[in-house]
Amino acid sequence: MLKVSELTAGYGRTTILQDVSIRIGKGEVVTIIGANGAGKTTLLRAISGLVKPGSGTIEFDGHQIAGATPADIVGRGLVMVPEARQVFPVMTVRDNVMMGCYHANAREGSAARFEEVLEIFPRVRERLDQLAGSLSGGEQQMVAIARGLMAKPRLLMLDEPSLGLAPIIVQQMFGIVERICAMGTTVLLVEQKAFHALKIAQRAYVIENGRIAMENTGAGLLADPHIKTAYLGI
Ligand code: ATP
Repeated sequence: MLKVSELTAGYGRTTILQDVSIRIGKGEVVTIIGANGAGKTTLLRAISGLVKPGSGTIEFDGHQIAGATPADIVGRGLVMVPEARQVFPVMTVRDNVMMGCYHANAREGSAARFEEVLEIFPRVRERLDQLAGSLSGGEQQMVAIARGLMAKPRLLMLDEPSLGLAPIIVQQMFGIVERICAMGTTVLLVEQKAFHALKIAQRAYVIENGRIAMENTGAGLLADPHIKTAYLGI
């Protein structure tokens, strides 16, 4: 579904990603783990069209999208939920969620999709008329994911959805990611909480200093001695 080949990208003259190649098949949960500053967010931004690739190719459903605009990429069903939520604080929860179907391609069937999304997030349903800025961190994260789902994603990219959440909410969050996948949306999950992410991923990549250092099944990486010491603290 998504094939990134030999991608190089960065900011100005600084190259962050070097020769990054990943692939994601339809229906998979694929995770990318890595330390702070390894380049995880930059990779998602490059796939989303927010950072222009220096070289390499990005193929989504057989179309080259490297260099396409973010709006065009979202319109194709490749949707990112950014790190640290980034909800609109002075808009209501309802308006935040509905912002997800801003692109013309996502408007058809939006009322029914809104209902489906609220089924996944009952807490969001309870707070629809509240200002998003007044929600807890976990609730804001739910709103950000709900907004992403309103964009009709075929591939949803989640940038550290568990960041700053209490352990019990982290568990819920990973359960929701599994549910989204079971409902038919392919998921690319970027995480620092490696244990949880690897548990739910069919396949996983490790990014170190802007390069893909390892690739394996989620279970394979969980059992790997380097991963155990460097990422799982075992
Ligand atoms: P974290 O887990 O801390 O979010 P990450 O793996 O997502 O880290 P990135 O956010 O992709 O890492 O950052 C990779 C490198 O790119 C870092 O060294 C960072 O300082 C740098 N960087 C990120 N954004 C910019 C920017 N807008 N301009 C210049 N450098 C940037």
